[in-house]
This record gives sequence, structure tokens and C-alpha cells, in this order.
Amino acid sequence: MNLADYIRDISDFPKQGVVFKDITPLLMDHAAMQETTRQLFDLVGNHQVDKVVGMESRGFFFATLLASKLGAGFIPVRKPNKLPFNTISEPYSLEYGFDTLEMHSDAIQPGDRVLIHDDVLATGGTAEAVCKLVEKLGGIILQVNFLMELTFLNGREKLEGYEVKSLLKYK
Ligand code: 5GP
Repeated sequence: MNLADYIRDISDFPKQGVVFKDITPLLMDHAAMQETTRQLFDLVGNHQVDKVVGMESRGFFFATLLASKLGAGFIPVRKPNKLPFNTISEPYSLEYGFDTLEMHSDAIQPGDRVLIHDDVLATGGTAEAVCKLVEKLGGIILQVNFLMELTFLNGREKLEGYEVKSLLKYK
């Protein structure tokens, strides 16, 4: 099965000039979802994972499936004021301006072995901010993995020093 067959390009979304990779056809297909989860699980290799951290909102889908398969807990990272308990936060830069990501302050214990997952690695700003959140709480980042990587945006440069893996690479 070629997972790329289940990802469609949407032109001019969310704004003019952007070609958005839409994963909903993949989510609609049970076999494709299972295969994606299996392949992401294989990327993790021999790492012993305590917590899988997923980014709002498309990162949640496979981060939770992966956590379940790994026997690990799931930690959501969200946009500001969405999480109900005490939070820590990290600002990150967007194409124009800044945004902030938050995580519950009790989500990770010092020494927890953490896998970070998101659907897409684009410029890397989101994943970099999540790495900072995890490390603020003393987590050890084993790997940052993605379903897709838009290699022409050089997101890996922001994640230097971390193990970065992706299933599909778009040039
Ligand atoms: P970055 O911070 O690496 O520039 O952007 C990554 C974030 O934006 C991810 O959380 C991802 O969900 C979202 N994103 C950026 N481009 C795309 C895209 O083409 N398709 C999807 N599904 N998400 C994208």
C-alpha cells in the first residue's frame, strides 16, 4: 500500500498560494489508517517510550494510536486557553507573527522518555516549540516523527540534535 495515494493536494488552502496536504482520505480508510500506524510504530524502533506528545489537532490522530500501540501515555499540546489545568507555554514564529503552544504542567515527569508526533513537518517551528515544552518539564526526547515532511521548507534545521523521522517526503 502506498500511503501517498491517500493524501490529496488542496490548492490555495488555507490561503492563496499554499498547496495543503489533506490527510482526511487516509483517515477515512481503515486499512490505510492501520498501515500508517504500523509504519509509524516501525519508525520508533527499539525506543522504550513513556509518553507520546501530539500537536493540535491533526497530530492527535496518530499520536494517540501510536501511544496505544507502544503502551505509552498520550499528551496533548494545544493552542492557548484550551487546556483546563495549569499549563506551561512556548511562543513560536509563524510565517507572519507569533503564536503560542501549551501543555499541562503535570504532563511529563523528569526523566520521562518522550516521542513527539505531528502529521506534517513544514518549517519546523511547531515541533521546535513542542521540544522546548517537553524539555522544560525534564522529558527526554527520543524521536520526533511525522507522517509527512515538506523537505523544501527545511524544517529539520530547526530540529538539529533530535532524531527526526518521517514516512513520506515531498520535495
Ligand atoms: P510548521 O510549524 O512545521 O511550519 O508547520 C507544521 C504544522 O502546520 C503542523 O502542525 C501541521 O499540522 C500544519 N501544516 C502545515 N502545512 C500543512 C499541510 O500541508 N497539511 C497539513 N495536514 N498540515 C499542515
